[in-house]
Amino acid sequence: MRILLVEDELSIANFIREGLEEEGFSVDVADNGRQGLQMALEGLEDYDLLLLDWMLPGLNGIEICRAVRKEAAQLPIIFLTAKDTVDEVVFGLQAGANDYIRKPFAFEEMLARIRVLLRSGEGPRQVFRTVDIELDADKHQVTKNGKEVELTQKEFALLEYLLRNKGRVCRRTRIIENVWDIHFDHDTSVIDVYINFLRKKLDEPGAPSFIQTIRGIGYRVNEDT
Ligand code: CA
Repeated sequence: MRILLVEDELSIANFIREGLEEEGFSVDVADNGRQGLQMALEGLEDYDLLLLDWMLPGLNGIEICRAVRKEAAQLPIIFLTAKDTVDEVVFGLQAGANDYIRKPFAFEEMLARIRVLLRSGEGPRQVFRTVDIELDADKHQVTKNGKEVELTQKEFALLEYLLRNKGRVCRRTRIIENVWDIHFDHDTSVIDVYINFLRKKLDEPGAPSFIQTIRGIGYRVNEDT
């Protein structure tokens, strides 16, 4: 699960990022409004949730929220802000946010609210399938023909990313950023190693792999035929 955090106060941004990463999320941080909006719009297919401060240099959170909402009706958006009058809360929700957390807040509360939104069906659905393989993100379980297959954490994360993007080419740089949470100047050959692990565990022997190699670009799991 990948979260975009737009927050200009470095100490708060670091606190949230570190906490969420410990919980297994990948977190990108933008420290001003324009960068936040740009990252959000470029990453619409990658982000599962947006955490937005309201008062930001450049563009404020309300403007970002409205612009993102136009492009992504389903993306969960949470405001994190010191603005706390009823009018302000209502204004934030009317701009298209799903939830509103007043600063200062407890990390546990924020985490709980994030989990609710990611589960509630307002976020992306949590069971992904291709042919005879099914991945249930909530149960953290993979089955093939209904039988459970044991995957390591990285194998699971890689498979989840490919299935979330089923039908689309997943570029190597995007895979590395989303599954390993490191950036693209890094050597990406680790991806091939893990693709092979997945193929060994999940392919039908003798049949073409369910993961297609797009030479020089990345990998794709095709839509069911
Ligand atoms: Ca701020």
